[in-house]
Amino acid sequence: MLYFILSYRCKTLHQLGGFWLFRNLLRNFMVGRYGPDHLNIAMVLASIVFNLVQVAFRLAMLLYLSWAFLALSVVRMLSRNIDQRRTENDRFITYWWPVRTQIGRSWANIKHWKTHRFIKCLGCGNTLRVPKGSGRLQITCTKCGERFIKKT
Ligand SMILES: [Zn+2]
Repeated sequence: MLYFILSYRCKTLHQLGGFWLFRNLLRNFMVGRYGPDHLNIAMVLASIVFNLVQVAFRLAMLLYLSWAFLALSVVRMLSRNIDQRRTENDRFITYWWPVRTQIGRSWANIKHWKTHRFIKCLGCGNTLRVPKGSGRLQITCTKCGERFIKKT
């Protein structure tokens, strides 16, 4: 019985040791290399999405694109040219941020389309959320104080 417990424990310890060894090896391998960043995560996600769409619609083009994105993200992760990769990532974030905000807005629109309506302020362009179906409303912008009348 004791032997079994011992051997079991030894086995788990052994596996744990292997895990640690692997982790250390990986860490040593990654020293001085760039590693994951926003752009890489985005590329891996895009790759997965392309792959799924490809499976659904049987578009070979998307499969190539999916592999290209995956390969590119791996190359970037293993790259030693850290400054260059950081510049790429910054550029990506600059482009991505407005897109992300727009997606967030569209999502809010979809989420509240039954009860609310989104109206752009005539003064400053700020988006205002007003309840739907209340007839003519005088709307006051929360940002610039502009007042205007809109049918909801
Ligand atoms: Zn305004």
